[in-house]
Amino acid sequence: MGDAGPKGRGVFAAGRIARSTAIATFRGAPKWVWDIPKELWPYAIQVDYDRYVVPRRNSVGWYINHSCDPNCVMSGLSIIAGRDVKSGEELTFDYSTDVDWAGFMMACSCGSYRCRRKIRAYRFLPDELRQRYGSSVAPFIRRRYLAV
Ligand SMILES: [Zn+2]
Repeated sequence: MGDAGPKGRGVFAAGRIARSTAIATFRGAPKWVWDIPKELWPYAIQVDYDRYVVPRRNSVGWYINHSCDPNCVMSGLSIIAGRDVKSGEELTFDYSTDVDWAGFMMACSCGSYRCRRKIRAYRFLPDELRQRYGSSVAPFIRRRYLAV
């Protein structure tokens, strides 16, 4: 864990991480969104429509930030390295691959040349990005949009 500038805290690679290495897995009983205290919403991972898991406080899943050009991707309910990651790089994934709540909107300042400025639900991702992520999205999104 370390300082990620304007994004607050973030997760950084302590050494080289090979592609496909598991970074975090979201476990725990899914809860209805309204049963989760509002201050925890920014940390919650969507696992189905209206259902979320809150990662353990201070875990990797708790602190991992979004990027519009991420080095990690969803694989089931885990986040894995989407490519080889160098020591010291911040680990990020695209929150839009895990959220499909139409009202979701978060300002982004990830600094990537691909930055979308506003992070929104998967349903609003451009086709080209959906293709790029393929099945590397949360399982409930896969079930709804990709029929796999
Ligand atoms: Zn961005």
